[in-house]
Amino acid sequence: MLPVFNNYIEGQWVEAKSGKTFPDVNPANTDETVGLFQSSGAEDVEAAFEAAVKAQPAWAALPAPRRGEYLFKAAEILESRLAKLGGEMTREEGKTLPESKGEVKRAINIFRYFGGEGARQFSYQIPSERENVFCYTLRKPLGVTGLITPWNFPSAIPAWKMAPALVAGNTVVIKPASLAPLSAYRLVEALHEAGLPAGVLNYVTGGGGAVGNAIVEHPALRALSFTGSCDVGNSLNAKLAARKVRSQFEMGGKNPTIVLKDADLDAAADILVNGAFFSTGQKCTACSRAIIEKAIYEPLVEKLMEKTKKLKVGNGLDPDVAMGPAVDANQLETDLRYIEIGEQEGARLLCGGNRLTGGPYDQGYFIEPTIFDGVTPEMRIAQEEIFGPVLSLMVASDFDDAMRLANGVKFGLSASIVSKDLTRVHQFINRIEAGLITVNLPTAGVEYQLPFGGTKESSFGMREQGPAALDFYTETRTVYLRYV
Ligand code: NAP
Repeated sequence: MLPVFNNYIEGQWVEAKSGKTFPDVNPANTDETVGLFQSSGAEDVEAAFEAAVKAQPAWAALPAPRRGEYLFKAAEILESRLAKLGGEMTREEGKTLPESKGEVKRAINIFRYFGGEGARQFSYQIPSERENVFCYTLRKPLGVTGLITPWNFPSAIPAWKMAPALVAGNTVVIKPASLAPLSAYRLVEALHEAGLPAGVLNYVTGGGGAVGNAIVEHPALRALSFTGSCDVGNSLNAKLAARKVRSQFEMGGKNPTIVLKDADLDAAADILVNGAFFSTGQKCTACSRAIIEKAIYEPLVEKLMEKTKKLKVGNGLDPDVAMGPAVDANQLETDLRYIEIGEQEGARLLCGGNRLTGGPYDQGYFIEPTIFDGVTPEMRIAQEEIFGPVLSLMVASDFDDAMRLANGVKFGLSASIVSKDLTRVHQFINRIEAGLITVNLPTAGVEYQLPFGGTKESSFGMREQGPAALDFYTETRTVYLRYV
């Protein structure tokens, strides 16, 4: 019997009104269905909103430190289950077990961090021009917030949206990605067990078109936080802007790592391998372009190839595996299609490029880590997000050329540089068009206590995570109080 996971509405685990479910399939072993989830529609979203609207006033009135306590309790519950939840994430999303456990730990840290925000939620006291007038700001919750999340960080992203939304006094309707809904379910379950009042958090699974749209179109929606593709994000943004619903969109990337001629080549090769291939390149912050100064191009590429060829691809539950499968058949097909496009455009395949087949590979969506060289800026593989383990190598004649190449895309999520030249590093920080900037580190690997977000086509709206998150989930009220 397959486990069946229900929606969570008004504190109850309930089936979708359609009576239908959809499977959550293991991408490393498609014979395994991790569980069946509710195939919901607009009527289930309506019930979730009714519950959230009803719960809103009492939740907003509860002192914020007490709201934070629910997050602390849920963090403890999650910590006691870390190993189990890590295994489940690997089975539903495909990433390796250390990556999954690291992500669950990150969700726990996020709950603790925002639990602590219950006792902070700082605002300002600002002097008045007038005598005996005391001026300050207050933070107020927005109301019902809708959260729509992608499959690639199925625990961390729901956690970094729901924790600040809740501690700020909002109620929530969340729709996780259909490819990996179990990890978010576990967060909701922990908050339920922590005693969160009914209706404060509601979880509804189902297709983006049906459930996501119904959330976005609901008249009671006061804020939307979306992470996913540019196509979907931009279409939702167009709808919400007209209604003046506060919204934030975290979307795609085409993130560069620049390697300058003074770099430690071993360290640079490790940084590129980590950025491009960990999590199968399925991170919005993954490195998909290596921009290398001419003087070190050949020796660096040799080291990069050596390290890439050592990566073992397979089921993420195997401790020797460094790279799991693509998340599903569509993503695998996209990866392979872009590899074909790269070859047609005249880029040279240095390694990889193929679906892996034979033995256990036949049970999943496995692909080789792939490197192209001879990539020029106008090629589609240099411009478009692939979201797979495909790295494009580009030669830069000097630092200025490297900056031109790095900034020559529509995206601006993350970017890194490998160099010990402090002047160049500072120039890079100053000139790079990216929201997340790393130095002598991979493009991926951000921390929850700092603001997160991109620029250009990658992001729209306020930052997520860190202290910035509360700015999104609260509205500022300004008070002028004259005492007589
Ligand atoms: P996606 O297809 O855009 O889906 C994201 C979420 O939107 C899913 O829950 C999806 O539901 C839902 N959705 C789809 N169509 C919708 C619609 N018409 N109305 C409302 N909701 C809808 O993205 P994905 O494939 O899950 O994730 C990969 C993308 O996310 C990549 O582009 C990646 O760069 C981006 N990403 C960005 C960040 C960041 O912080 N910048 C982080 C992670 C990922 P279903 O799952 O049911 O289709």
